[in-house]
Amino acid sequence: MFHFGHHQHPLAKVQLRELFTCAGCKEYGAGKRFACQQCNFQLHEFCAFSPPSLKTHPLHGQHQLHFHSKPKQGGILWAKCDICWKPVKGFTFRCSACSFQMHPCCAMLSTQVSFPVHPHSLKLLPTIASSSGGDHPGFVCGECKRKKSGRVYRCTVCDYHLHAVCAKNMINGLEDNGIKVVPEKPSMLGAAARVASLVIVEFIGGLFEGIGESVGQVLVQDIGIGRCVSRRRRIE
Ligand SMILES: [Zn+2]
Ligand SMILES: [Zn+2]
Ligand SMILES: [Zn+2]
Ligand SMILES: [Zn+2]
Ligand SMILES: [Zn+2]
Ligand SMILES: [Zn+2]
Repeated sequence: MFHFGHHQHPLAKVQLRELFTCAGCKEYGAGKRFACQQCNFQLHEFCAFSPPSLKTHPLHGQHQLHFHSKPKQGGILWAKCDICWKPVKGFTFRCSACSFQMHPCCAMLSTQVSFPVHPHSLKLLPTIASSSGGDHPGFVCGECKRKKSGRVYRCTVCDYHLHAVCAKNMINGLEDNGIKVVPEKPSMLGAAARVASLVIVEFIGGLFEGIGESVGQVLVQDIGIGRCVSRRRRIE
Protein backbone atom coordinates (compact mmCIF):
# COMPACT_ATOMS: atom_id res chain seq x y z
CA MET A 1 0.00 0.00 0.00
CA PHE A 2 0.96 3.64 -0.42
CA HIS A 3 0.23 5.95 2.50
CA PHE A 4 -0.24 9.70 2.14
CA GLY A 5 2.39 10.24 4.82
CA HIS A 6 5.03 8.39 2.79
CA HIS A 7 4.51 8.84 -0.97
CA GLN A 8 8.00 7.80 -2.03
CA HIS A 9 7.94 4.10 -1.12
CA PRO A 10 5.27 1.39 -0.82
CA LEU A 11 4.49 -0.06 2.61
CA ALA A 12 4.09 -3.75 3.32
CA LYS A 13 2.18 -5.37 6.17
CA VAL A 14 4.69 -7.26 8.29
CA GLN A 15 4.77 -9.05 11.62
CA LEU A 16 7.89 -8.40 13.69
CA ARG A 17 8.30 -8.89 17.42
CA GLU A 18 10.49 -5.89 18.10
CA LEU A 19 9.45 -2.48 19.30
CA PHE A 20 9.04 0.36 16.83
CA THR A 21 8.04 4.01 16.95
CA CYS A 22 5.08 4.72 14.70
CA ALA A 23 5.87 7.48 12.20
CA GLY A 24 2.22 8.52 12.36
CA CYS A 25 1.31 8.91 16.02
CA LYS A 26 4.93 8.83 17.32
CA GLU A 27 4.00 6.21 19.89
CA TYR A 28 5.46 2.75 20.46
CA GLY A 29 4.17 -0.39 18.84
CA ALA A 30 5.17 -4.03 18.33
CA GLY A 31 3.97 -6.96 16.29
CA LYS A 32 2.02 -6.31 13.11
CA ARG A 33 2.66 -3.02 11.33
CA PHE A 34 2.97 -1.39 7.94
CA ALA A 35 6.66 -0.96 7.17
CA CYS A 36 8.66 0.53 4.33
CA GLN A 37 11.14 -1.96 2.92
CA GLN A 38 13.53 0.79 1.84
CA CYS A 39 13.69 3.10 4.86
CA ASN A 40 12.74 3.24 8.51
CA PHE A 41 9.12 4.38 8.05
CA GLN A 42 6.69 2.22 10.07
CA LEU A 43 3.04 2.69 10.99
CA HIS A 44 0.62 1.02 13.36
CA GLU A 45 -2.07 -0.78 11.43
CA PHE A 46 -4.75 1.43 13.03
CA CYS A 47 -2.74 4.55 12.11
CA ALA A 48 -2.35 3.39 8.51
CA PHE A 49 -6.11 2.90 8.25
CA SER A 50 -7.26 5.98 10.20
CA PRO A 51 -10.48 7.22 8.61
CA PRO A 52 -10.82 10.97 7.83
CA SER A 53 -13.56 11.31 10.44
CA LEU A 54 -15.32 9.44 13.26
CA LYS A 55 -19.00 10.31 13.35
CA THR A 56 -20.16 8.86 16.63
CA HIS A 57 -17.26 7.48 18.58
CA PRO A 58 -18.30 5.91 21.93
CA LEU A 59 -15.59 7.90 23.74
CA HIS A 60 -16.90 11.20 22.38
CA GLY A 61 -20.36 10.60 20.97
CA GLN A 62 -21.60 14.19 21.23
CA HIS A 63 -19.43 15.60 18.41
CA GLN A 64 -17.83 14.40 15.21
CA LEU A 65 -14.05 13.90 15.28
CA HIS A 66 -11.68 14.65 12.43
CA PHE A 67 -8.35 13.07 11.65
CA HIS A 68 -5.28 15.33 11.69
CA SER A 69 -1.81 14.18 10.71
CA LYS A 70 -0.12 17.03 12.62
CA PRO A 71 -0.49 17.76 16.35
CA LYS A 72 -2.13 20.91 17.60
CA GLN A 73 1.04 22.54 18.87
CA GLY A 74 4.72 21.80 18.83
CA GLY A 75 7.37 23.13 21.14
CA ILE A 76 7.76 22.58 24.83
CA LEU A 77 4.26 21.55 25.86
CA TRP A 78 2.31 19.11 23.73
CA ALA A 79 -1.43 19.04 24.11
CA LYS A 80 -2.50 15.86 25.88
CA CYS A 81 -4.85 13.12 24.81
CA ASP A 82 -8.18 13.14 26.69
CA ILE A 83 -8.12 9.36 27.13
CA CYS A 84 -4.58 8.30 28.02
CA TRP A 85 -3.32 11.77 28.99
CA LYS A 86 -0.08 11.26 27.09
CA PRO A 87 1.08 14.07 24.80
CA VAL A 88 -0.20 14.03 21.25
CA LYS A 89 2.77 14.40 18.91
CA GLY A 90 1.44 13.14 15.61
CA PHE A 91 -1.73 11.60 14.17
CA THR A 92 -4.82 12.63 16.19
CA PHE A 93 -8.59 12.59 16.11
CA ARG A 94 -9.71 16.05 17.12
CA CYS A 95 -13.12 17.54 17.81
CA SER A 96 -13.89 20.76 15.99
CA ALA A 97 -16.65 21.74 18.46
CA CYS A 98 -14.69 21.33 21.71
CA SER A 99 -11.12 20.70 22.82
CA PHE A 100 -11.40 16.90 22.89
CA GLN A 101 -8.65 14.96 21.13
CA MET A 102 -7.25 11.45 21.21
CA HIS A 103 -4.57 9.24 19.68
CA PRO A 104 -5.55 6.75 16.95
CA CYS A 105 -4.63 4.01 19.45
CA CYS A 106 -7.00 5.49 22.03
CA ALA A 107 -9.71 5.63 19.39
CA MET A 108 -9.43 1.82 19.30
CA LEU A 109 -10.70 1.80 22.90
CA SER A 110 -14.32 2.10 23.88
CA THR A 111 -16.47 2.66 26.97
CA GLN A 112 -16.50 -1.08 27.54
CA VAL A 113 -13.58 -3.34 26.65
CA SER A 114 -12.31 -6.84 27.30
CA PHE A 115 -8.75 -8.07 27.13
CA PRO A 116 -7.11 -11.47 27.58
CA VAL A 117 -5.32 -10.19 30.74
CA HIS A 118 -8.60 -10.20 32.66
CA PRO A 119 -11.55 -12.64 32.48
CA HIS A 120 -14.29 -9.99 32.88
CA SER A 121 -15.22 -7.01 30.75
CA LEU A 122 -14.09 -3.55 31.89
CA LYS A 123 -16.02 -0.32 31.94
CA LEU A 124 -14.56 3.18 31.56
CA LEU A 125 -15.05 5.25 34.71
CA PRO A 126 -16.35 8.81 34.26
CA THR A 127 -13.82 11.63 34.18
CA ILE A 128 -13.04 12.91 37.64
CA ALA A 129 -12.94 16.66 38.36
CA SER A 130 -9.47 18.10 38.11
CA SER A 131 -9.27 18.87 41.87
CA SER A 132 -7.57 15.50 42.31
CA GLY A 133 -5.50 15.98 39.17
CA GLY A 134 -7.91 13.70 37.36
CA ASP A 135 -6.72 10.69 39.35
CA HIS A 136 -9.07 8.10 40.74
CA PRO A 137 -7.75 7.62 44.26
CA GLY A 138 -7.57 4.33 46.10
CA PHE A 139 -7.05 1.76 43.37
CA VAL A 140 -4.15 -0.24 42.02
CA CYS A 141 -3.89 -0.75 38.28
CA GLY A 142 -3.91 -4.48 37.56
CA GLU A 143 -1.16 -4.10 34.95
CA CYS A 144 1.37 -1.45 36.00
CA LYS A 145 0.56 -1.40 39.76
CA ARG A 146 1.48 2.27 39.69
CA LYS A 147 -0.10 5.70 39.93
CA LYS A 148 -0.67 7.21 36.50
CA SER A 149 -2.82 9.99 35.12
CA GLY A 150 -5.61 9.56 32.64
CA ARG A 151 -8.88 7.68 32.32
CA VAL A 152 -9.41 4.40 34.16
CA TYR A 153 -11.31 1.17 33.43
CA ARG A 154 -12.93 -0.81 36.18
CA CYS A 155 -14.07 -4.41 36.08
CA THR A 156 -17.84 -4.89 36.00
CA VAL A 157 -17.56 -7.94 38.30
CA CYS A 158 -14.55 -7.64 40.61
CA ASP A 159 -12.24 -4.92 41.92
CA TYR A 160 -9.78 -4.99 39.01
CA HIS A 161 -8.75 -1.57 37.58
CA LEU A 162 -6.80 -0.75 34.45
CA HIS A 163 -5.46 2.61 33.25
CA ALA A 164 -6.54 3.57 29.76
CA VAL A 165 -2.84 4.20 29.06
CA CYS A 166 -2.09 0.59 30.14
CA ALA A 167 -5.03 -0.70 28.07
CA LYS A 168 -3.29 0.75 25.00
CA ASN A 169 -0.52 -1.84 25.36
CA MET A 170 -3.16 -4.51 24.64
CA ILE A 171 -3.87 -2.78 21.32
CA ASN A 172 -0.48 -1.56 20.08
CA GLY A 173 1.09 -5.04 20.27
CA LEU A 174 3.35 -4.44 23.28
CA GLU A 175 1.43 -6.86 25.52
CA ASP A 176 1.15 -9.51 22.77
CA ASN A 177 4.90 -9.41 22.20
CA GLY A 178 5.83 -9.53 25.87
CA ILE A 179 7.16 -5.96 25.99
CA LYS A 180 6.21 -4.86 29.49
CA VAL A 181 8.52 -1.96 30.18
CA VAL A 182 9.18 0.44 27.37
CA PRO A 183 12.96 0.64 27.00
CA GLU A 184 14.79 3.90 26.70
CA LYS A 185 15.73 5.20 23.30
CA PRO A 186 19.11 3.75 22.23
CA SER A 187 22.02 5.76 23.58
CA MET A 188 25.81 5.75 23.62
CA LEU A 189 25.94 5.54 27.40
CA GLY A 190 27.52 2.59 29.18
CA ALA A 191 25.58 0.04 31.20
CA ALA A 192 26.25 1.77 34.52
CA ALA A 193 25.07 5.12 33.20
CA ARG A 194 22.01 3.43 31.72
CA VAL A 195 21.04 2.06 35.14
CA ALA A 196 21.56 5.49 36.68
CA SER A 197 19.46 7.14 34.00
CA LEU A 198 16.62 4.68 34.57
CA VAL A 199 16.60 5.67 38.23
CA ILE A 200 16.45 9.33 37.20
CA VAL A 201 13.61 8.67 34.80
CA GLU A 202 11.72 6.88 37.58
CA PHE A 203 12.38 9.76 39.95
CA ILE A 204 11.35 12.45 37.49
CA GLY A 205 8.33 10.39 36.52
CA GLY A 206 7.23 10.21 40.16
CA LEU A 207 7.98 13.86 40.76
CA PHE A 208 5.91 15.11 37.91
CA GLU A 209 2.99 12.77 38.21
CA GLY A 210 -0.04 15.00 37.92
CA ILE A 211 1.74 18.02 36.51
CA GLY A 212 1.67 16.62 33.01
CA GLU A 213 3.77 14.05 31.31
CA SER A 214 5.06 16.40 28.64
CA VAL A 215 6.81 18.53 31.24
CA GLY A 216 8.43 15.45 32.73
CA GLN A 217 9.58 14.27 29.33
CA VAL A 218 11.20 17.56 28.48
CA LEU A 219 13.08 17.54 31.77
CA VAL A 220 14.19 13.97 31.24
CA GLN A 221 15.56 14.92 27.85
CA ASP A 222 17.44 17.86 29.34
CA ILE A 223 18.91 15.69 32.06
CA GLY A 224 19.96 13.20 29.40
CA ILE A 225 21.89 15.86 27.54
CA GLY A 226 23.46 17.15 30.75
CA ARG A 227 24.61 13.69 31.71
CA CYS A 228 26.25 13.11 28.33
CA VAL A 229 28.19 16.32 28.76
CA SER A 230 29.35 15.60 32.30
CA ARG A 231 30.32 12.06 31.37
CA ARG A 232 32.49 13.29 28.53
CA ARG A 233 34.21 15.73 30.87
CA ARG A 234 34.99 12.94 33.31
CA ILE A 235 36.62 10.81 30.61
CA GLU A 236 38.80 13.72 29.47
ZN1 LIG B 1 0.61 5.01 15.27
ZN1 LIG C 1 10.40 4.56 2.79
ZN1 LIG D 1 -4.21 8.71 23.99
ZN1 LIG E 1 -16.35 17.62 21.15
ZN1 LIG F 1 -1.66 0.99 34.73
ZN1 LIG G 1 -12.98 -8.79 37.12
